[in-house]
Amino acid sequence: MKIYSNNLESTVLNTREINVSFEFFPPKTEEMEMKLWEVILKLQNLKPSFVSVTYGAGGSTRERTHSVVKKIATETGLKSASHLTCVAASKDEIEEILRNYWQIGVRHIVALRGDMPASSPNYQLRSDGYKYANELVAGIKKIGDFEISVAGYPEKHPEAKNLDEDIDNLKRKVDAGATRIITQFFFDAEAYFSFVDRCRKAKIEVPIVPGILPVTNVNQTKHFAKMCGAKIPKWMNELFVGLDERQETRHLVAGIVATELCRILHRGGVNDFHFYTLNRSELTAAICHVLGVREV
Ligand SMILES: Cc1cc2nc3c(=O)[nH]c(=O)nc-3n(C[C@H](O)[C@H](O)[C@H](O)COP(=O)(O)OP(=O)(O)OC[C@H]3O[C@@H](n4cnc5c(N)ncnc54)[C@H](O)[C@@H]3O)c2cc1C
Repeated sequence: MKIYSNNLESTVLNTREINVSFEFFPPKTEEMEMKLWEVILKLQNLKPSFVSVTYGAGGSTRERTHSVVKKIATETGLKSASHLTCVAASKDEIEEILRNYWQIGVRHIVALRGDMPASSPNYQLRSDGYKYANELVAGIKKIGDFEISVAGYPEKHPEAKNLDEDIDNLKRKVDAGATRIITQFFFDAEAYFSFVDRCRKAKIEVPIVPGILPVTNVNQTKHFAKMCGAKIPKWMNELFVGLDERQETRHLVAGIVATELCRILHRGGVNDFHFYTLNRSELTAAICHVLGVREV
């Protein structure tokens, strides 16, 4: 029997340094908070380059985000980043939030516009606020020398007319001072590679870090994908058919899908990965392990 070259071995023996970062959302209840801290304590051993905490558009999680970011910054050795959205906020409110972060030692902001409120389709942007994320980035830079990451969309942001216009917008965010792009999740590695090529042609030189979503609930993911313009490939739908009631198998399959995606990206030259952990540790930890990121 002929044994073909062992691709698994190429990953396990990988000598290129891999950097991972983890995203969490602010918990709503005490029970969820306790669970989140267990997750953070487990994942911190993987020495992420940073961890970030999301922020509800319109400031709906302002206090909760702040409290998690503060606790990470002051009680763990991790570098913490706070997401910050500008929709429905005034420039003064944003400034106050940023000054508070600066005071507690947080130096990294993931700067976003945020989604328009779904309940008010004719929502008018505030005249005393920032309209788009590029304006927010420029505003942040005036307040402090924060490291700034911004969002990129390999499969196009749903509001953009086309990918070229979306990439023009991305360039404005980088020109305003962003030094990292974190992508929306995707399942088609080709979409990511072609997006990176187009960004490089548009003279966007900063790292474009793929956002990896380990999927455990396909229906929920379909819902997210619809809102953010990500595509769920047909093969993925088919892969999860019949697993609704079989959680253990579903999780194993989810781990395989996300690991395969990361391995393809890694073979294509990607060394940095941002995980949407959904406040769970198992899948993210397993994928990191396969990528060669070990607990220290
Ligand atoms: C990594 C990541 C993290 C996220 N974290 C959060 C979070 O914590 N909280 C949250 O609420 N949401 C979050 N989001 C979702 C994000 O807020 C939404 O996708 C939102 O709709 C767009 O935000 P943005 O910063 O990309 O906006 P922008 O970059 O401002 O772009 C928004 C849209 O407007 C278009 N546009 C920009 N400028 C112009 C212009 N001058 N004229 C016309 N069109 C223009 C763009 O092409 C795009 O379609 C995150 C997304 C990603 C990828």
